[in-house]
Amino acid sequence: MVSRLVGVLALQGDFREHRHALEELGCDVREVRTDADLQDLTAIVIPGGESLVIGRLSHLFGLLEPLADLIRSGLPTLGTCAGMIYLARSVTEGTQYQLGVLDVVVERNAWGRQNESFETDIYIEGLDEPHHGVFIRGPWVEELGEDVEVLSRWDGHPVMIKQGNILATSFHPELTNDRRLHKMLLEIEES
Ligand code: GLN
Repeated sequence: MVSRLVGVLALQGDFREHRHALEELGCDVREVRTDADLQDLTAIVIPGGESLVIGRLSHLFGLLEPLADLIRSGLPTLGTCAGMIYLARSVTEGTQYQLGVLDVVVERNAWGRQNESFETDIYIEGLDEPHHGVFIRGPWVEELGEDVEVLSRWDGHPVMIKQGNILATSFHPELTNDRRLHKMLLEIEES
């Protein structure tokens, strides 16, 4: 297998779980906190957590623009939950720091606070067996740009999408033992 250096944005959120998942797949992993950490990556993961905090810290640390440029230039990218929000063009309410590289509008905390978390099997395009989706105050996709493919829906709403080199999920594959979604990231050809 080709050696891989995968970055995990490590400003806030469950980056350790992504690190663990990627190491299980044989990747070298680098926690990304500064512009310099973006050098030589073959892919990057944006974890779940709190998108307001991830956005604000990345702005303060000067990472927002270099990271957006790198993803726009084709770096294979996976964003989970808050990661999906951070990648998106905008949110349905208010404004926050976002990369704006993924042509969707997302609704934060879309399934409401009373059901803050739920788990359910979901079907994903390209995978034979269902994935056990862990949803923790996750977003759904409210508006989809033309070039965005829907790989999975739950309750009628897109919860996994792909736009070229970018994969994003409303749920947390890193909190399960199913590594197929991280493998999908590693299979994206750098454009
Ligand atoms: N609700 C969080 C946000 O808006 C996302 C939650 C998560 O990543 N589990 O950023």
